[in-house]
Amino acid sequence: MKIRLYNAYVITCNDNFDIYPNGEVWIEDDKIVYVGKSKVGFMADKVVNCMGDVVMPGFVNSHTHLPMQIFRGLAEDSDFKGWWYDNIRPLEDHITGHDMYWSTLLGIAEMVRGGTTCTLNNYFHQKSMLNAFEVSGMRGAIAIDVRYKLPKEERRNEWENRHASLDKGNPLVTFFVSSHSIFSVDEQGLNDCTALAKKYGLPQSIHLCETLNEVGNCVKEHGFTPVKYLEQLGFFDYPTTIAHGIHVDKEDIEILRKYDVKVSINMSSNLKLASGIAPIYTYIKNGVDLSLGTDSVASNNSLNMFKEMFLAASITKVVMKDAAAIPAKDIILMATRGGARALFLEDKIGQLTEGYQADVIRINTKEPHWQPVNDVITHLVYSASASDVVMTIVGGRVLYEKGSFYIGESYSNICDHCENNIKRLIQERDLAKKENL
Ligand SMILES: [Zn+2]
Repeated sequence: MKIRLYNAYVITCNDNFDIYPNGEVWIEDDKIVYVGKSKVGFMADKVVNCMGDVVMPGFVNSHTHLPMQIFRGLAEDSDFKGWWYDNIRPLEDHITGHDMYWSTLLGIAEMVRGGTTCTLNNYFHQKSMLNAFEVSGMRGAIAIDVRYKLPKEERRNEWENRHASLDKGNPLVTFFVSSHSIFSVDEQGLNDCTALAKKYGLPQSIHLCETLNEVGNCVKEHGFTPVKYLEQLGFFDYPTTIAHGIHVDKEDIEILRKYDVKVSINMSSNLKLASGIAPIYTYIKNGVDLSLGTDSVASNNSLNMFKEMFLAASITKVVMKDAAAIPAKDIILMATRGGARALFLEDKIGQLTEGYQADVIRINTKEPHWQPVNDVITHLVYSASASDVVMTIVGGRVLYEKGSFYIGESYSNICDHCENNIKRLIQERDLAKKENL
């Protein structure tokens, strides 16, 4: 399939941050074959006059839990304990692979609707997620967790069996080793993850420094902050992406930089759960590699990368008491190139460059909140919204265009399944609660 996008305001996000105000992008099969000024000579199957709209690389969401999509809006306005231990966690005891398949598809629908073309997805039951990625044509990395509740001697075998059972034939899907967190995985579990990462040549993902509680308990139990604790375990000797990274000190930041640990900033989730504010400005000044993630919709409550860009920029400015603290361009690069680096896919995605994967989005600039279009780059961060996205292409395939989804299952079918599944899960959870009284 050949696609030609012309008459577009092309933002490449390449090393020079080249912009072509009257530019075009040519796609052949899964790759970009031309990016630049208006040009003729490409016989495409699909020709799109973008009418001056923005065309740019899709966003890379570096921290999600898509099977939790059906938990959106449950137990709102309660504290972390009420939200997690009393409501969300008991639901997970009843969730099935079938539930996760439909929930992941709902997450994929929300992502492509808002211009996200790739994600790092953490949850259990990887087969269901993999199926959803396969059916939809979405790109992503799936993190395979170590089952820390199993007896210690069984964990590695179980992980290896699960890893072996997953189809590796989808070029759009890569894998991570996942440790949930230092408070839910014991020391051997963390060492197991590192050993598996080394053996299989996979990167690792972990939630880290999300709450003050986590940091305090780690210091009490191990004598180190979470970052230093993982460093002395040798965890960072292998490529790692951490989510949150809120409560870090100067030495922690230096360690993260030294090991080139990727940090996924999850601003909405951190604000809503009152976890804190990640020191974005200090990270950048100290050379730490940042990307943006939404976390799950159970805590965010959306997979909206425009919201993450707005918050990451605005909150950094207010924290630094300096409206010039971070330029919009840097935020856009975090949401694209930064995400590509967080998924260790920087040589394939994150920019519009010939030879790169065709993960391309078109953003409508005709809406009232875009007018007048004085500054496209700052408008993208401060004025635009996810609903402005009119086209999302992943690996050369159109997955969303002007209200229609092309993700393998019909959108209404996905919504119906998710609606029914969450009703059943709540019933099962409440019944189990009653029986345990
Ligand atoms: Zn998370």
